[in-house]
Amino acid sequence: MSFWFHGIIGFGDKVINLYGYTLEGLAEFLLANGQKKFNAVQIFDWMYVKKARSFSEMTNLSKDLRAFLNSTCCLDLLAVLQHQVSADGTQKFLFGLPDKFAIETVLMAQDYGMSLCVSSQVGCNMGCAFCASGLQKKNRDLTADELVGQVMTAEQIAGTKVTHIVVMGTGEPFDNYDNVIRFIRIVNDAKGLAIGQRHITVSTCGIVPKILAYAEEPVRSNLAISLHAPNDELRASLMPINKRYPLKDIIEACQIYFDKTSRRITFEYLLLSGVNDAVALADELSDLIRGLNAYVNLIPYNRVSEFAFERTDMNRAMQFYDRLIKRGINATLRKEQGLDIDAACGQLRLKSDR
Ligand code: SAH
Repeated sequence: MSFWFHGIIGFGDKVINLYGYTLEGLAEFLLANGQKKFNAVQIFDWMYVKKARSFSEMTNLSKDLRAFLNSTCCLDLLAVLQHQVSADGTQKFLFGLPDKFAIETVLMAQDYGMSLCVSSQVGCNMGCAFCASGLQKKNRDLTADELVGQVMTAEQIAGTKVTHIVVMGTGEPFDNYDNVIRFIRIVNDAKGLAIGQRHITVSTCGIVPKILAYAEEPVRSNLAISLHAPNDELRASLMPINKRYPLKDIIEACQIYFDKTSRRITFEYLLLSGVNDAVALADELSDLIRGLNAYVNLIPYNRVSEFAFERTDMNRAMQFYDRLIKRGINATLRKEQGLDIDAACGQLRLKSDR
């Protein structure tokens, strides 16, 4: 694990951003560097509850420890390259990373709280036919501190507390599994940001081995699967990942996930006019997921200029929805936000290379 690595590289090397540590990881890091383990709780409290911006503010730590932290660690947030506020209150941030890359993060005011949509990678390799994020191939995974940095920086700039997190921005979270799981552990920690496990959702295009791994995680955050089609032929034409992990395997993994966690799964279904929105496909979808404790979130398509896909009109969307309900499948039609600032689903993309 990386805290051993950090322990060995010693001083003078790359400065360690403490937002990348779980509480346990921080304690191990302190120990490996001749410090006292129990200070980790105090440091965590300063970082996430008192929102300290420097180690010198951490007045209940010894001078010695503060000097050690100052010389080896940092609490850097992300650089804010752009901050847009939509007419509906949705906020989009373009964050600069320590290297040349930039990522987008979206903050949405919901009736249940403030929900932050975080990115998990710079670009994405999944190549879904309809998604703007995939236009830029993956440059790299985001580190845990960059994932946490999105939350801390958005909170600071917007002057608000993030209450819900969806890992639905640019990237495939299960293609960056370890960092995403570490991120969830950090933000969920009761001694830190304390964002409840039921308030955190990870959305995947269906990487089956990682769905199975996720079922074993101690922090029981929610799972959403981007389905978008009820049969392999159609799904593979929209989502290349389906050639590797066909629907049968995904559904089987979902059943195992549910047996282990008793948590309801969300299936996201993007409605693309004339492509996957026929009522017959609603029947097929019902048959596919019947018996799973799941519900379908129907998503209106947000246009991406590079692609020819069109949004399904409201009438047809309602027909699809009604058919699911009639067939005994729970479903919702997602309300969209942030369209005017290109912050809506599937519109996040690499804007600048700085
Ligand atoms: N890679 C993950 C998470 C990022 S995408 C995943 O595939 O789930 C988040 C959601 O937005 C996915 O359901 C994705 O299919 C959907 N999406 C992609 N492009 C979209 C668009 N143009 N309009 C609406 N939703 C889109």
